[in-house]
Amino acid sequence: MTNTMLEYGLTPDQLEVQQLTRQFASKELTWDKLKEFDARGEFPMELYKKVAAMGLTTLIIPEEYGGAGMNQLTCAIAMEELAYGDAGFSLSVGANSLAVDPILIFGTDEQKAYCSKFYVDGGIGAFCLTEADAGSDAGACRATAVREGDEYILNGTKAFITNGSIADIYTVFALTDPSAGARGLSCFIVERSRAGVSVGKDEDKMGIRLSNTSEVIFENVRIPANNLVGKEGMGFKIAMTTLDITRPAGIGAGVSGLCRSAIDKCIEYAKIRVTFGQPIITNQAIQFMIADMEIQTQAARTLSYRVADMIDHGVLDPIAGAAAKAFAADAAVRVATDAVQIFGGNGYSREYPIESLYRNAKIFQIFEGTNQIQRLAIIKGLVKNSMM
Ligand SMILES: Cc1cc2nc3c(=O)[nH]c(=O)nc-3n(C[C@H](O)[C@H](O)[C@H](O)COP(=O)(O)OP(=O)(O)OC[C@H]3O[C@@H](n4cnc5c(N)ncnc54)[C@H](O)[C@@H]3O)c2cc1C
Repeated sequence: MTNTMLEYGLTPDQLEVQQLTRQFASKELTWDKLKEFDARGEFPMELYKKVAAMGLTTLIIPEEYGGAGMNQLTCAIAMEELAYGDAGFSLSVGANSLAVDPILIFGTDEQKAYCSKFYVDGGIGAFCLTEADAGSDAGACRATAVREGDEYILNGTKAFITNGSIADIYTVFALTDPSAGARGLSCFIVERSRAGVSVGKDEDKMGIRLSNTSEVIFENVRIPANNLVGKEGMGFKIAMTTLDITRPAGIGAGVSGLCRSAIDKCIEYAKIRVTFGQPIITNQAIQFMIADMEIQTQAARTLSYRVADMIDHGVLDPIAGAAAKAFAADAAVRVATDAVQIFGGNGYSREYPIESLYRNAKIFQIFEGTNQIQRLAIIKGLVKNSMM
């Protein structure tokens, strides 16, 4: 099948990545193969090893450090194809970029080389910002990193961390100056192997059940001062800049893959499901629902990929990024809701993949900054611009 919108304007490298991931998803990420992982809430480690061997977990890492040196748009294209198969699996692969990007953007050459090696060797990373009482209000973090000679002593518990219990390396945000709030946050590289690092309970989630989400606990963890990324107090800026940069690939791509999958499944089903002697696709009500799903999907994808392309050209526009994230996430929920409707009772049954798409869709409105927080960022940015 060719789809002009999906392939228009892509470079030969991007088309190759798209083909590679599409073939992988169509062979390995089928509902028949994944439904037991979804039921158990289990991360499919063997599948991860396969995508790592294909180089899909190190796309963003520069070639000089052993990665593919691809840009954000190319990562988004790959994540979209994986999300077509399963949004949770795609998220776990994409969370590596979220973890390594702060180091690639703000780290020293030594830190970039050191961290990249974990991923190039097949390792997994996690980005640890959220705490039980610090989600939207990331500046309310309580984890601390106290300097002692050439080391920092890290204490605190991070919550809802994607890849939390399976990661080999963590990018951790902790207060080096607790009296300064968000301005006292700093960013650290923390290896899983360090004494005092442990993981708490895995979350038993509504959706994206193939991705691992857990608490990560740091108890008197000694880390070398060299593991500080950037300078003390730069943590909030590092976290927010990273999220602004990775959102199109993390959210826009995940949503695009999920929605395309929903549309394809609905067309296939509506052509064979017969009511009143006619396939349900002959009803204009069903046709319009699917057409509206396509409109939402194209708009979400176009907006997100436009922002990814801007980022790749050095233009960081937080208003556009927030708008793309909020729109895409809302589109995912709308599209998945209509998909369940088209499947009728079967859409509500675990026998069919549609209810899993519905469960998977909701998270996009919550993580990487909730949709309310995106709207706050948009209005804050608009008001600031109006005063210039
Ligand atoms: C599956 C999953 C994976 C995740 N992965 C990661 C990860 O890898 N790393 C990481 O650091 N975090 C991760 N998170 C955490 C995620 O980013 C937070 O859950 C999210 O930022 C929301 O924070 P919260 O859950 O504390 O909600 P809260 O901040 O408590 O918000 C609750 C509700 O209040 C609204 N709200 C809050 N403040 C305002 C306001 N000022 N105005 C209007 N509305 C407001 C929110 O929009 C939301 O609807 C993950 C979460 C989940 C569920």
